[in-house]
Parts: sequence; C-alpha cells; structure tokens
Amino acid sequence: MAPTAKSYDYIVIGGGSGGSGAARRAAGWYGAKTLLTENGRSGGTCVNVGCVPKKMTWYFASVNEILKGARNYFYDVPDNVQFHFDRFKKRRDESILRLNGAYERNWNREAIELVHGTATFTGAKEIEVDMQNGSGKLSVTAPKILIATGSYPIIPDNVEGAEHGITSDGFFDIEHLPKKMAIVGAGYIAVEMAGMLNAIGVEVHMFIRGETFLRTFDPMIQETMTKAYEHAGVIIHKSFKGFKKVERLDQSPATVTDGEAHEKRADGPSPHKQLRITDLEGQTFEFNELLWAIGRAPEVQKLNLDKPGIKLTKTGHIAVDEYQNTNVEGIYALGDVTGQAELTPVAIAAGRQLGNRLFGAPELKCSKLSYDHIPTVVFSHPEIGAIGLTEPQAIQQYGQENIKVYRTRFTAMYFDVFPAEEKTKHPTQYKIICAGPDEKVVGLHILGEGSGEMLQGFGVAIKMGATKADFDRCVAIHPTSAEELVTMR
Ligand SMILES: Cc1cc2nc3c(=O)[nH]c(=O)nc-3n(C[C@H](O)[C@H](O)[C@H](O)COP(=O)(O)OP(=O)(O)OC[C@H]3O[C@@H](n4cnc5c(N)ncnc54)[C@H](O)[C@@H]3O)c2cc1C
Repeated sequence: MAPTAKSYDYIVIGGGSGGSGAARRAAGWYGAKTLLTENGRSGGTCVNVGCVPKKMTWYFASVNEILKGARNYFYDVPDNVQFHFDRFKKRRDESILRLNGAYERNWNREAIELVHGTATFTGAKEIEVDMQNGSGKLSVTAPKILIATGSYPIIPDNVEGAEHGITSDGFFDIEHLPKKMAIVGAGYIAVEMAGMLNAIGVEVHMFIRGETFLRTFDPMIQETMTKAYEHAGVIIHKSFKGFKKVERLDQSPATVTDGEAHEKRADGPSPHKQLRITDLEGQTFEFNELLWAIGRAPEVQKLNLDKPGIKLTKTGHIAVDEYQNTNVEGIYALGDVTGQAELTPVAIAAGRQLGNRLFGAPELKCSKLSYDHIPTVVFSHPEIGAIGLTEPQAIQQYGQENIKVYRTRFTAMYFDVFPAEEKTKHPTQYKIICAGPDEKVVGLHILGEGSGEMLQGFGVAIKMGATKADFDRCVAIHPTSAEELVTMR
C-alpha cells in the first residue's frame, strides 16, 4: 500500500524569486503550513545564474572602464593594469553561497518546510518529490499548489555540435576569460554579457538576425546602443542567418556535471577551448568560446502536467489568468514559467499578491499584480532604462496625432574632460512619450550613465499617472543627467 501523503495548506514548487516570495507571504504573514520544494540551489536563477552574479560582473567591468577613463582626469594609470578574473569569480561565488544560506534561513524563520528535490504531479492535488539527499520519494498533498519553476536557457537543436557552446549559466562558470568569444542573440542577456566582456578586453563578436539588437525596445535605444557597442569595439555580425556546425578543435570537452539535464548537454567553459564554427552560408570562424543567448524556455518537463491536466500556451508556458490561476482549480503559476514579464521583482510581487489573495483577509481576495508599467533596466555599457510604451506602440495605441514625443541627446558631464573623439562614444539619450491633451507620460526611454538607478523614481511617477506638466513642475537637481528629464521642451 502506498504511504499516505503528508498534507500542507500550500505547496510551492520552485525556490526561486517567485516561489520564495509566494511561500514567505503565505507562511510568514498568514501562517499557512507551507512546503517549498527546490531541486537546484536556493534562490533560483536570479541569485545563482542571473541578476546577482550578472550585476557583480557588471561592476567588475565598470571598474575597468573607470580606470581607462581616469587618465582623462590626469590620473597616472598604467597601460597594463592587471586584474584577476578568477579571484573575482571566487569572491562572487562566495557571496552567492552566503545568499543561498540567507534564503534558507529566512524560510526556516518563517516555518516554511524546505525539501531539496524534484517535484512531479502524481494527481490533481498530489505531488511526489524525488529527494536529493538519497532518502527516496516523498508524497505530499495540499489544496493549493503553486508552480514557480522558472525557465532554462535554450541551446539550439538544429546546429551540429551546438553543445560545445555555453549558455548564460555557463557564463557564470568562466574563471579564465576567453580571448575571442561569439555571442549569438540580440536580447538583453546577450547585450549585457557582450558589454561586460568587451569592457574587460575580450574580443566579442555578436551575431544578430536584424540590423540592431534589443528589438523589443524603443527604436532610439536599438539604434543608439547598437552603434555605441560598435564604437566600443564589439564586432556585430548583422543579418545573421544562423550557424550550421560547431566543431571543437582542442581536447575532449569537460562536460558540466552539476545542474539540470539540459545543462549537461553543454560543455562548460574551458580556458583552452578552440571552436571552429561554420555558418549557413559556409563561412567559418574561430573562437575560444561560444555563448548561446537565444532565449529561455519554461521549466515544465519534469512536472508531469498532464496528470492534473494543466494547459500550456502556444509558447509552452503555463497558461494563467490575471490572478495567476491555471485552468485547474487550486493550482497556480507565476514567474518565468508563465512567460509574463520575466523579471525577478515581477515574480516576487506576483507571489506576494497571490499569497494575499489565497491566505489573507477577505478584503484581499481580489489581490493581483498589475503587469502595466513595469520598469526594466539593461545593464549594458552604458545602461538602459525603459518603462511603458515604445514610440511605435504608442502610435499604434493612441494614433500619431494624439502623441507627443520629447527627445534629448547630450554628453554627460563626466565625459567633458575626455578627448572629442572619445566623447561621441558615450551617448546619453532620453525620450518621453506623452499621450492625449493632458500629455500623460505613457513611455520613458533612457540610456546613459546611471540610467538604472534613475528609472526607479520616474517609474513611481509614471505608475501614478504623471503628465509632462508634473515632470516639469519638479525642480531639477543640478548638475545631473536626470535633470534633463524635467526640463525637456
Ligand atoms: C543571465 C540572467 C540575468 C538576469 N538579470 C536580471 C536582472 O538584472 N533583473 C531582473 O529582474 N531579472 C533578471 N533575470 C531574470 C530573473 O532571474 C528571472 O525572471 C527570475 O529568476 C524568475 O523567477 P522564477 O521564480 O520564475 O524562476 P527561478 O528564479 O528560475 O526559480 C525557479 C526554481 O524552480 C526550481 N525548479 C524547477 N523545476 C523544479 C521541480 N520540478 N521541482 C523543484 N524545483 C524546481 C529551479 O531549480 C529554480 O530554482 C535574469 C535572468 C538571467 C538568466
């Protein structure tokens, strides 16, 4: 006879941003008896192979940029400043380990029961966890189950030898920088990684299908940033049709052994890697590393979603309504696995709102996350910030005659002391898109130093429905770049 399943108020599958936010709200605020299952490292993508190590690496790269710029401020900086990426990587890994611990301590404090293992549906409200500590399988049940299993980076299956490349997960395993690296993809992860590597001296080649990268961003950002990257030395192969074959010319690959099944397909980085890549037109290239940054797919394979009968969207994400309900009563999904604005704070906020709705007071029964006006930042070089509609989207939504666009471009004061030809390589550009007679701000797009920190405050104003007149009523802070946003004519 099968053992009886242990029962909880709430089972959360996935201890990443969304799962952690959801479990903590349910257990910590409302005392729900909560089980959290996690089959990787606590904290999920953001902590381990996403936002956190990425931003730390971005700082590493920014230090090199500051050092190069310091000569313009008459600092004697030698040409051969040495840096130790391997030592930085070790320190970065230690920080992440501390964060893994902090996540687990928070869960423990809030009486969330953590099980390390892979969860699979065995019934509509029943889950089996294949436990990682070798103690077999655990059967658990709850009236409310949340799927927050995230996504994984895609390796193409139509390119022979594609597994010799790495994905963004492998990027964070790099200890010794490759000399020459190919990055395939035009999304924010490709752009961020290309920017960081270029800033620390790697010869970076980006392969993009169109003429510009970041195609979902406003045209101003696409065009200016693509040029800025070219000026900074990134070699961009445009109108790229695809790779046919990747051959490894050095010794046998060291296959990555930790992580998930799909990651085992990738070789992992190696300081000795030599790759010969042939594109669909027969042209060959040689690189020391290849990074696939061609998108992410929802992590649903091991969940056995057929059992409860959960529906997927055309893209394979879990289909949810505005309250994060799946089509099966009592089963919810949020975060990257649903494909909705794939960002950490979005997953956390959706998890908290769901906790309020499921376990909170009656007046919270309609709690849900508003997916409108989510600010987003690309940690490129320089940074990009965007919120709301792009200009083409605003035209489509309101009609050309009903929108007014304010633009400015200038060189930030920091670059004033740089030689003239250098200055042009460091653009700052802002665009405010307004709609209707009251000029409500419906889109804000900024690129330049400090954009990441700048956007958060403007995001509050725009979320509150600010108009251009509201922007103008705010007295400028001088001398800053941000002041241009409240003085645009
Ligand atoms: C390189 C990179 C940079 C990024 N930078 C940023 C950034 O700067 N800012 C930002 O906001 N976002 C960033 N993101 C996106 C952000 O990391 C994700 O949107 C966020 O982590 C999604 O949270 P989630 O909870 O949906 O999934 P995850 O955080 O991926 O968590 C899902 C968890 O579920 C676990 N899991 C999966 N299947 C099972 C199973 N069957 N049983 C048990 N556990 C399971 C996984 O191990 C994982 O830990 C970045 C992502 C990447 C890849």
